[in-house]
Amino acid sequence: MTDPARLSASGIRARLDEGRASSVELTRACLERVRRADGELGAFVRLNPEAEREAEEADRLIREGRAGPLTGIPVAVKDNINTAGLETGAGSSVLAGFVPLRDATVVARLRRAGAVVLGKTNLDEFGMGSSTENSAHGPTRNPNDLERVPGGSSGGSAVAVAAGMAPLALGSDTGGSVRQPAAFCGVVGIKPTYGRVSRSGLIAFASSLDQVGVFAADVEGAALLLDGISGEDAGDQTSLSTDAPVTPATFDGDAHGLRVGIPREYVGAGLDAGIRGGIDAAADALSAAGAAVEEVSLPHTRYAVPTYYLIATAEASSNLSRYDGVRFGARSGGGGGGGGGGDLPQMYRGTRTQGFGPEVQRRILLGTFALSSGYYDAFYGKAQRARTLVRRDFEELFDRGVDLLLTPTTPTPAFRLGEKLDDPVGMYLSDVYTVTASLAGLPALSLPVGLTGDGLPMACQLIGSHLGEATVFRAAFAIESRLTGTGASDA
Ligand code: GLN
Repeated sequence: MTDPARLSASGIRARLDEGRASSVELTRACLERVRRADGELGAFVRLNPEAEREAEEADRLIREGRAGPLTGIPVAVKDNINTAGLETGAGSSVLAGFVPLRDATVVARLRRAGAVVLGKTNLDEFGMGSSTENSAHGPTRNPNDLERVPGGSSGGSAVAVAAGMAPLALGSDTGGSVRQPAAFCGVVGIKPTYGRVSRSGLIAFASSLDQVGVFAADVEGAALLLDGISGEDAGDQTSLSTDAPVTPATFDGDAHGLRVGIPREYVGAGLDAGIRGGIDAAADALSAAGAAVEEVSLPHTRYAVPTYYLIATAEASSNLSRYDGVRFGARSGGGGGGGGGGDLPQMYRGTRTQGFGPEVQRRILLGTFALSSGYYDAFYGKAQRARTLVRRDFEELFDRGVDLLLTPTTPTPAFRLGEKLDDPVGMYLSDVYTVTASLAGLPALSLPVGLTGDGLPMACQLIGSHLGEATVFRAAFAIESRLTGTGASDA
């Protein structure tokens, strides 16, 4: 069996369909690679003991001619996405021992499509972070440089794909948690339009921003997986009916007729010179493919980080109030049946003090303050108004006929482990280019554009209009095929 690290999802599909490989072989190869490489990377927190059995089932479907696009392909799943019967901990001690009764809708769709759930990947606790260092399981490391972070919060999923342990992976993105680790690890990652993918069974962080996203080694793989999980769902009132799939078959590398804007607020001071060069290369690739590239402005960009961190913490403080030691996971301190002799408030306090890590506690405190009486208008209310301004910036450009925005994904390449742990604001600023699309609910894809002199991945971000994923993928494929000379199936 060819090393799965060397195959794209479409390459794997072709091998499975032509009988040149089985899902069992492929799944074993992935598991073997996890066993060899993951000791030092720390991408997985748990493997699925049923993975090989699921692969056998997939092989049966393939033999019977009933395979769909994802049948038999192993997928890694971020550990804040519920998997029935397989512990799901969101990187938090407070959820230790929590075994979901039901699959998240995205996982149920994958299983129905015959994909193989390989295992659960590490993350910043409840998705709060940009480095995958805030995890009860310890940090995940960047395969390009073990002293550097993989980005976060979906660092485990990004590393699983970057290190060839899984061809595809699910993550979640609230303010950049798919795109930033994709950028740091050199893989493709997309946060879809808010509502394209059901959030049912995704452990909530900030519900007006959370979206499940996908990772793949190439653009085509990302489209394949996104199509497999998209669509309206009765379990999520905010999910949208999307009858416009992102069909990989329509990718041809052409970008004629596309108007692409580069917002000047994203390429000014603070942007790494190497990454700036990568954005220029992506712009040149788009022009060569026939697109018209122009400079544009998104004037309210500078409000995005403070706005995001007010809204996200406010929603988090509300969502995380459910972890009280009674309904889920761990319990500690006080009475409540624990026999400790304390009272109920003591039990709540003990559970939440011991169960949540320092970053989660910081956010609960910030969010509770922002929502508290007397401060609500000054903080949360104002943040909601600023969010509208950020969204309108995008709408005005799309109304003027711009189809897509090209930006950096991150201001710098991957930083060192520990470098920003004592500097929460510095950590928050690493999301400066990703939180805008989250606030506006727009689709945004991170695409590798080469390596720095030190061999670290660099990336650009393509932001599309509401449900404009097909255009985002079309442009991404055009850039990928020109920059890497591939982008087509390697089958
Ligand atoms: N890094 C951002 C944060 O810490 C985004 C996280 C995410 O998208 N889940 O909130």
